[in-house]
Amino acid sequence: MHLQNNLSKKILGWYDNNRRILPWRVSKKSTKKLYYRLLSEFMLQQTQVKTVLPYFKNFLLHFPSLESLSRSNERKVLKLWEGLGYYRRARNFLATAKILVKEHNSKLPKKIIDIKKLPGIGDYTANALLAFIHDQPTIAIDGNVKRVFSRILNKNENKIDFNKLIESNKKSLFKTKRHSDFVEALMEFGALICKPKEPQCFKCDVKSICRYFKSNKKIKRAKRIQPQEKNYNIFCYIDKIKKKIALTKKNDLGFLDKFYLPPMKETNIKNKIKNWNFHSKFKNSISNKKLNINLYYKFSSKLPLQSQWFSLKGNKEFIPSFTKKIFKQISDIN
Ligand code: SF4
Repeated sequence: MHLQNNLSKKILGWYDNNRRILPWRVSKKSTKKLYYRLLSEFMLQQTQVKTVLPYFKNFLLHFPSLESLSRSNERKVLKLWEGLGYYRRARNFLATAKILVKEHNSKLPKKIIDIKKLPGIGDYTANALLAFIHDQPTIAIDGNVKRVFSRILNKNENKIDFNKLIESNKKSLFKTKRHSDFVEALMEFGALICKPKEPQCFKCDVKSICRYFKSNKKIKRAKRIQPQEKNYNIFCYIDKIKKKIALTKKNDLGFLDKFYLPPMKETNIKNKIKNWNFHSKFKNSISNKKLNINLYYKFSSKLPLQSQWFSLKGNKEFIPSFTKKIFKQISDIN
């Protein structure tokens, strides 16, 4: 599959005139470059730019450098991440910062194989960092980039081997030698011009070489995989006098592991549970999963196994927003 010779030049030209000013886009010589890029890449996973911006700025107020972060602990980092969700990212980011400071002299390794050994860094982030920090000729393939290439070729995403496509067009794609900018430009172009629902073809600088634009038989948008829907029972042990609830870090749910939750079990049974008071049903989404929740409670001053009491009003420990929603739901119990 052949991409036009002047594609990177056109996209970079558009980027130079239209890029957003974002706080992690610091100058190439800035000593903050690695830290800002790492923080933004972790925060931007599954999350939109406008949601990330206030969290990014606030995080820097508390931890202005990789070194200051590396001296911190999980509780403080999770507290700053509170509300952003996907908390595993916060843990991985802290672990990565500690490894970089201790083992790599606060630098990013030069080889992709070593970058991918860092916690929470997969193929996409490793390639993005390789371009941003070391200005290496590479492309970080995310949903935006796949969509842009797929439209330019007017070929369905699932019929394209993107690694092969880049390899066979590398001479032209990396001709400009602005490798860091090109990775950024492709993502920005996908986010602002070649948008998922309504590509802005009328003002697109690439339309003269875009087969989607020219074709009478345009490819359809790739269907999004629907998140799995599952049913869960949640059991709230409530100490009525002390206004406390029992939470545990032990669950085998496959999400929010190592976070404080009330005891919770997946279920297919629709019948109500004996010896428990049914409180309510509600829906929630976590990490691309849709949860149908049945909320149960009982008053008890006896702490269940592997649990701790927590105040229903406020705690020093980090409590995920999912658990806080449960606090809110049961706030009407007397
Ligand atoms: S012309 Fe339209 S479809 Fe083609 S790259 Fe531009 S915005 Fe995307």
